[in-house]
Amino acid sequence: MPFHVMIIPTLGCPANCSYCWSSEKKSSIMSIETITEVVKWLKSLRGDSVTFTFHGGEPLLAGADFYMEALPILFKGLSPRKIAFAIQTNLWKLTPEIAKIFAEYNIPIGSSLDGPKELNDFQRGKGYYTKTMMGYEIARNQGLNVRFITTFTSHSVKFKEEIFNFYLEQGFTLKLHPCLPSLKGENPKKWTIDPGEYGELLIYLLDKYLENMGKIEVMNIDHLCKCVFTGRGTVCTYVDCMGDTFAVGSEGNIYPCYRFVGMDEWIMGNVYDHPTMEDLSQSNAWKCLNKFKEYVDKECGKCAHIKYCRGGCPYNAIVPTGGEIRGIDPYCTAYKMIFDEITKRFNEEMFGSCEMDVFLPQTMNSSRPGIMSLMRKKI
Ligand code: SF4
Ligand code: SF4
Repeated sequence: MPFHVMIIPTLGCPANCSYCWSSEKKSSIMSIETITEVVKWLKSLRGDSVTFTFHGGEPLLAGADFYMEALPILFKGLSPRKIAFAIQTNLWKLTPEIAKIFAEYNIPIGSSLDGPKELNDFQRGKGYYTKTMMGYEIARNQGLNVRFITTFTSHSVKFKEEIFNFYLEQGFTLKLHPCLPSLKGENPKKWTIDPGEYGELLIYLLDKYLENMGKIEVMNIDHLCKCVFTGRGTVCTYVDCMGDTFAVGSEGNIYPCYRFVGMDEWIMGNVYDHPTMEDLSQSNAWKCLNKFKEYVDKECGKCAHIKYCRGGCPYNAIVPTGGEIRGIDPYCTAYKMIFDEITKRFNEEMFGSCEMDVFLPQTMNSSRPGIMSLMRKKI
């Protein structure tokens, strides 16, 4: 996994999604001075290429001036190393001016949308869909690449077929996000999806994806297939993320990732102090998440998928215990289900039952694309 720094310009957000735990009404907005300190901190921290993702709350609340200044400061300040940017936004505050800056830096956009209008607005609030689609038009007019991230909840999973068909008809790329419990949530069970249900959803999407190959992209399935094929994780959930991912909050506080932002007990340092890796490794947050690695080596040691799953997400693992490492990611059930399914299909395609077909991947002996085509896909 490449080095990833998430910048959270604010936890504020104009939307009011039912299951969102990552926004705060009175959150401050990051100053440009903090961005300058991010550059100084990273210069002393490590010298490799870095991907910055602006995340929130709603990162566009920081406004056009913020991005007009922040992007060149980060880009030039850290050159000649390779710098990439991404943003996750609901697009409500996207203006042609901001879209133009994003186009200059070739910034891909991830935007949250839970499916057709009625379903989306039921979960994310009335008017959400229309506002996001207005922002989408502005983004498209500047040639920006927008991918929608769909949160599947205990409610919307019942409409998985409608959601899939909606994405197919609209020609949108689908990235799914299971609604997960949070350390910040008061009633985490209300919307969250059960691990077994999530596993079934992934297998359903794998089937639908193969049926509709070439007409839609389902990013999670691409990544899961790639994990099995290459034998290593390709997204943060399936690698040891500690030390390769950080998040910086509006006041310059450093956290292990965006999911911890705003929780004082998970602060690892502050960019204004330019902490080294050694300094960060002394924080309680680092020690706790590092313990997860050791725990996974022990608990998942016998699992066939350990190399490319790594026990899942440490944040998910500590939610049920209120912050302590006493288990692996509870979504293990789902990961096992989909990794088993991909492996089974891979084996069937490679070493299928017909003797004549032995060693011929399905892509070579069938007109219908199989799992190998997803495994080999460039992502
Ligand atoms: S804690 Fe979870 S969400 Fe955060 S970087 Fe690690 S794996 Fe990803
Ligand atoms: S599938 Fe489950 S047991 Fe296997 S590595 Fe992942 S979390 Fe551990």
